Parts: sequence; structure tokens; C-alpha cells
Amino acid sequence: MKALVAVKRVVDYNVKVRVKADKTGVELANVKMAINPFCEIAVEEAVRLKEKGIVSEIVVVSIGPKEAQEQIRTAMALGADRGILVETGAEVQPLAIAKLLKAICDQEQPQLVIVGKQAIDDDNNQTGQMLAALAGYGQGTFASVVKVEGGKAIVTREIDGGLQTVELNLPAVVTTDLRLNEPRYAALPNIMKAKKKPLDTKTPADYGVDVTPRVKTLKVEPPAERSAGIKVKSVEELVAKLKNEAKVI
Ligand code: AMP
Repeated sequence: MKALVAVKRVVDYNVKVRVKADKTGVELANVKMAINPFCEIAVEEAVRLKEKGIVSEIVVVSIGPKEAQEQIRTAMALGADRGILVETGAEVQPLAIAKLLKAICDQEQPQLVIVGKQAIDDDNNQTGQMLAALAGYGQGTFASVVKVEGGKAIVTREIDGGLQTVELNLPAVVTTDLRLNEPRYAALPNIMKAKKKPLDTKTPADYGVDVTPRVKTLKVEPPAERSAGIKVKSVEELVAKLKNEAKVI
């Protein structure tokens, strides 16, 4: 069975992002980029299913600039078999990403689509759900356990009150949560091998998808700066400050 995994190129999670002076977005020039962490978990899950003999081929897709090839190669070094880059320099919002992934699903006919629960740059948490709706697939979102048995996917979901387990007919969309697995590091020989794996480059027009944004970002602002803390000398001083200055007791 074929698994399709979508990986997004985002600012590396270790980088402290800076908002552009004109407030139109965050600074991307000369910033370290990486695979979105939830997408890395998606790749790892597909690789584990392949190691168990359940998945036979892993196709990894990224939509973005030419440089997103780097993230596809990283996914290949982790174990994906081939890649598709849908190259565009434009801002592509979740609905358009979902439409592109749907078009790729129509061509590739995967039994399982694994995406991250959210991309850490825009925090949308929309793509997997929209793809499932457009493709008419079931969805198991915020997965912390994924099992494939008897032609079904059994997904344990992390929900507010605890854990919910659902059974999905295949093909299905799974979105990964943090505790699903711990991604491996790519070994050097696998990084070398990944360079030779097939990578197709397409454009949104090849799939007949209009990627014009439907939502306009009005402004982006950094979070309010926290003021520096102070040391108090006694419990009495702490209580006085909480009462008279912070006014929380
Ligand atoms: P979002 O809905 O934007 O929070 O993203 C959720 C997931 O959708 C990500 O973790 C990826 O698996 C997938 N996704 C979103 N944007 C892209 C993209 N540009 N290329 C490939 N996959 C994407």
C-alpha cells in the first residue's frame, strides 16, 4: 500500500523569528529553514509502517519554492522513496494546498495520507481536514497511535478530555500529533542515497489548481515583550507586591 506524506518547509523551530519592520510577515532572508516538525513525525510514521511491511512505497510532497527540494531530500534520507515538488514562489494557503494534495491523491491513489497536525509557521491546522473533505476520505486528526489492520486505519486521537480511538476506512487522512513517535536522525549513507531518489517537479498549473489567496494578512506583530523579573527578600515582601503592585491577591 502506498503512503503519501506532505512536508512543509518552515523556519527551523530553534530559530527565534523576527517580524519584518513593515509588519507584513516574518523575516525569511538568511534564516535557517527545516521540515515542519509535525511533518517529520508524519515521515517517521510512514517509514515505521514500511518497516512493518504494511506500506510498500512512500511518496513525499512539498509545495513551495525550489529550495523545498532540501526538505524532500531530508524526508527521502529518513526513508521516503520518491518526491514531488510543486514549485511556486507564491503564498499558498491551506485550501489551495489541500486542492493540490487532492489532485496528487487522484493521480497517485495512496491508501494513507499522513500530514502534520499543523505547520508551525502559520499555525493553520486546516490542510489535513480540508484534504479529507475534498477527497471524500475519512480523517484521524491529532494522532498519537496509528495502526493499520484488516484494511482499516485505527487511530488514537489526542483530544481535550483524553484519548479517542477511531476506525477509518482506507484511503484516509491522518494528521500527526507530537507524541505519535520520535523521528530518527538521517544517517550519512542515507543522505547520500537520497540524492539519487526520483524527484518530480511540477507547478500548481499542472494540476489545474488556482492558488490565489482567499485570506489577506492585514498585519503581523511580535508578542508583547515580558518585563524583567525581580528578586524579593522575604515572603512578606512577595505578598505585599502581589497585593499592591500585581493586584492578584
Ligand atoms: P497547516 O494546515 O498549514 O497547519 O498544515 C498542516 C499540514 O499540512 C502540514 O504539517 C503539512 O503536512 C501539510 N502542509 C501544509 N502546507 C504545506 C506545503 N506548503 N507543502 C506540503 N505540505 C503542506
